[in-house]
Amino acid sequence: MQKYIIMGPQGCGKGTQATLLAKDLGLTHFSVGDIFRWNVAAHTKLAARIKRIMDAGELVPDELVEEIIRRRLDQHDWNYGYIIDGFPRNAKQARFFLESYDVDAVVHINLPAEVAQRRALSRRTCTGCGMEYNLMHRPPAVAETCDACGERLASRRDDTVEALAKRLHDYDTKTRPTLELFEQKEIVVYVDGSGTVAETQNRIRELLKLPQWAAAAS
Ligand code: AMP
Repeated sequence: MQKYIIMGPQGCGKGTQATLLAKDLGLTHFSVGDIFRWNVAAHTKLAARIKRIMDAGELVPDELVEEIIRRRLDQHDWNYGYIIDGFPRNAKQARFFLESYDVDAVVHINLPAEVAQRRALSRRTCTGCGMEYNLMHRPPAVAETCDACGERLASRRDDTVEALAKRLHDYDTKTRPTLELFEQKEIVVYVDGSGTVAETQNRIRELLKLPQWAAAAS
């Protein structure tokens, strides 16, 4: 059973890479950001506490994040592996995780901040079916329209220049330093994220000693 954490600056493609790994290896993909976005879309009580924070590109308080992680991992069937994306974001969260859970490898996708920001600003999601696009390397056939369902595409509310600057700054000052805690366990692998989705996926697999990705079969 494989247990991974995937980290990297906003826009580095960690969600895409985690989804591909999870699909192919039968892992459960936990994206803390997706769980929070689901709460906002579903108007839950939690949403009322986190929406403004998320829109501003700030980090949600640790106790709410830890509750989400604990609840999700306690529900998990341990016959299956997992890949966690978007967590931990700071040293407190990393220590919380290491006290109760374990992980085989932490994959860090390296990408310069200015490239990450450009990629994040080009992200679009379909307002109908949720399909994801990137205007830089996966644009829709018709501008701002979903290829699959024809609905309108929109940017994430926190993919603005201001919110991204805040998120990338938090990444450098709070998230990247947590790698040290995992480095002490010698489980961190660093991957160049500047290539195509397939190139990055195969670089990750090489470092994790997994079979290469058969893109056409997925
Ligand atoms: P992401 O999709 O990972 O960029 O997360 C979107 C937003 O959700 C972040 O900007 C934060 O507001 C919140 N969030 C996601 N994961 C965490 C976390 N581990 N700690 C604090 N806030 C988080």
